[in-house]
Amino acid sequence: MTDLQHSLIAQLGDSCVSIDAGNLEAHAGDWSDAPRHRPSILLTPRTPADVAHALGVLTKLRQKVVVQGGLTGLAGGATPQPGEVAMSLAKLNAIEDFDRIGGTITVQAGLALEQLQQHVEAEGWFFPLDLGARGSCQIGGNAATNAGGNRVVRFGVMRDLILGMEVALADGTVLTMMNKVTKNTTGIDLKQLFIGSEGILGVITRLVLKLEPKPTVSNTALCALGSFEAATRLLKELRRRLPALSSFELMWDDFMSAAMRTGGLKAPFATRSPVYVLVETLGASEESERRALEEVLAFALENDIVDDVIVAQSIEHARQLWAYRETVGELLSHLKPHAAFDVGLPMIETDRFVTAMKEILSARFPQQTHLFFGHLGDGNLHLLSGPYADAAAMHEVERIVYEGVQAAGGCISAEHGIGVVKQEFLHLSRSSAETELMRKLKGLLDPCGILNDSRVIREQGLHDSGAGSASAPH
Ligand code: FAD
Repeated sequence: MTDLQHSLIAQLGDSCVSIDAGNLEAHAGDWSDAPRHRPSILLTPRTPADVAHALGVLTKLRQKVVVQGGLTGLAGGATPQPGEVAMSLAKLNAIEDFDRIGGTITVQAGLALEQLQQHVEAEGWFFPLDLGARGSCQIGGNAATNAGGNRVVRFGVMRDLILGMEVALADGTVLTMMNKVTKNTTGIDLKQLFIGSEGILGVITRLVLKLEPKPTVSNTALCALGSFEAATRLLKELRRRLPALSSFELMWDDFMSAAMRTGGLKAPFATRSPVYVLVETLGASEESERRALEEVLAFALENDIVDDVIVAQSIEHARQLWAYRETVGELLSHLKPHAAFDVGLPMIETDRFVTAMKEILSARFPQQTHLFFGHLGDGNLHLLSGPYADAAAMHEVERIVYEGVQAAGGCISAEHGIGVVKQEFLHLSRSSAETELMRKLKGLLDPCGILNDSRVIREQGLHDSGAGSASAPH
């Protein structure tokens, strides 16, 4: 047994330190196509204090560690680099407190999103973050990536749903910021540093989350439209007249066709249209909300904004309409090795960008599939392109898309993060002054560079590049 294993077992106990080949293989990578590596050791701490103690040991021994939530990330951030130890938060999944009066819940970071949703819904409350990976992704991972998903147009991103947080720093210090109120102006809101920083500044161990009263009524409609421009007009109309609007998911025709093929789904309309939009409302009044939705859609039909509409007649029917959009998980697997993009674009640039990219990519890579879809209300466009057997071709696609995003004034990641797969393109969205400040923050909070090293930014000058171990603090 190595000194490292010995020290970790002394802190965490035998059952939380594994070198079993099956366990290591199960933690060798996330959902991205970043090269997989088995970690040297798998740690599964049971308590927030265990996380802090383990980090203290790892810093002392200058051992690099990768933090792992549900491993559904699409940026390679949780994929181990050679020689790294992996720390999985899977056992840290308790619900610690549920304020049923104020509508807040205190959970440990390893709780799966879907478990949280179901737990609060059983008691009349609602946690609005929702994404296709809900069954596996963890609340801590959602916070670390500042996840978005399907309901941002109404409820905001993960950052907007977090009231408080506890973080274990690389040296084992525990930063407790378990605020439970919406308004708090007592100095710098430090938790914001950790939200969306993809685990490079600290390990999130506990969170206080804001809940909404559970909606009792949901309406879903699928619309066929003649153009992207028509979709922007529909969105404006829905926003103006429908406060219950909770999702506005756009799918271009090629995405829809691929979803039907891959998911074995029937065509929703008799004829094909260039663009489809999935609309959802969440509220409390069955009759008035359904009537309001139908009125806006009738207006949209009369005014040639929408070509055709299906309004779901039951929960099962709504599920069938969502199935086109939810096929994305199967498409991700089907098109591997793929380039998966989650760019942010000003709405006014989106149509031009999509048209240009379709033209360039289909001319340059005619054998590959290029699918466009997105959360239009949030300016978040997805492009799924693959399969690419050749890494150089994949790299070329990334360069074409990210340079196009920069030219359109967008950002290279709107929800999945930078991780390792977008790192070399970060300069297209962030100035050197911004990146330098990120490096300084990293150096301050993790001076030995043990935590999620070489993700997001390269920590130039902070440590050597030796696999697995980090140098002493400067
Ligand atoms: P992981 O993949 O394990 O980790 C992600 C990053 O966070 C890594 O850098 C990791 O080191 C870090 N991390 C994890 N836990 C912690 C912690 N406790 N403390 C500090 N750092 C931590 N994302 C969206 O935003 N919107 C979507 O609509 C969406 N849809 C998806 C659909 C599918 C089918 C799939 C596979 C993925 C989708 N994703 C989406 C991406 C992914 O689910 C999110 O990024 C999710 O938030 C990752 O959570 P996780 O627990 O799986 O994190």
